[in-house]
Amino acid sequence: MKKPIIGITSAYEKERELKNYHRTTVCIDYAKSIAEAGGIPLVIPTLEGREDIKSQLELLDGLLLSGGLDINPQYYKEDFLEGMGLVSPERDRNEWTILEEFLPTGKPILGVCRGMQILNIFYGGSLYQDMRHISKDLLKHRQDFLPELEVHRVKLEEDSILGRLFGGEVLTNSFHHQAIDKLGDDLKVTGRTSDDIIEAIEGKREEFLLGVQWHPEMMSARGNKEMLKIFKEFVKSAKLK
Ligand code: MN
Repeated sequence: MKKPIIGITSAYEKERELKNYHRTTVCIDYAKSIAEAGGIPLVIPTLEGREDIKSQLELLDGLLLSGGLDINPQYYKEDFLEGMGLVSPERDRNEWTILEEFLPTGKPILGVCRGMQILNIFYGGSLYQDMRHISKDLLKHRQDFLPELEVHRVKLEEDSILGRLFGGEVLTNSFHHQAIDKLGDDLKVTGRTSDDIIEAIEGKREEFLLGVQWHPEMMSARGNKEMLKIFKEFVKSAKLK
C-alpha cells in the first residue's frame, strides 16, 4: 500500500555571511520522525503564487507546519511589542496561503511550535508576543540545552488525540518564548502546563488537526518512542483520508 506523503513547511532563511543568499531550511528531525512513523516526508519550499502552491499541496496526504521564527503580530492585529523576535514575511505569506488552500481539504494537519501558533492565529486567535507579558511566575519554557530533554509536564484532556495517546499527562521539552493568548474559533485546548500555558490545541471538528507547543520531533528523532506516537497517529490518519 502506498505510504502517505506528508508535506513539511520550511524556513525562508536569509544567510547572514553571504548577504542576499537565501535557502530553504528545516530541521531534519521532522523528516526522520515522519519516515519512522511510516510516511514519506516532502519538504515544501516557500513559493509565491497561489496556483503553484495549490499544485504542491495536491501531492500531499497530510501537512506538517514546522517550527521557526515568530509570526508577524499584524496577522492578529497587534503592533510589535518588546520581546518580539525576528519575523519572515515570505514565510508568513506562504504559510497563510497554504492554510487557506489546505484546510478546506480536511486532510490531517500537525502544527509544531510556530506551526501551532499560526494555526491558532489563522482561526482568529492571538499570541503573547513574549511570555514576559504574562504577569505571573512561569516555568522555564525556553530550555538551553539537549533538544530531547523533558523539562515540563503537560496535562492533557482525556477526550483528545493526545489524551488517547498518552493518558492524563506527558513529559515534554520546551523551546518557545511566545504562547497562545486568545484561543482561535473552532479550536479547543487539550494540553496545558502547571503554569496554565497552552501547550496543545486540537480542532473541534476536523478529524486530525493538532498543534503542539513543544517539539516532539526533537524527541522522537533521538529515540523517544513515546513521542513517535504523535507522528504515527498523524501518518495513520493521513492514510485513511
Ligand atoms: Mn513549554
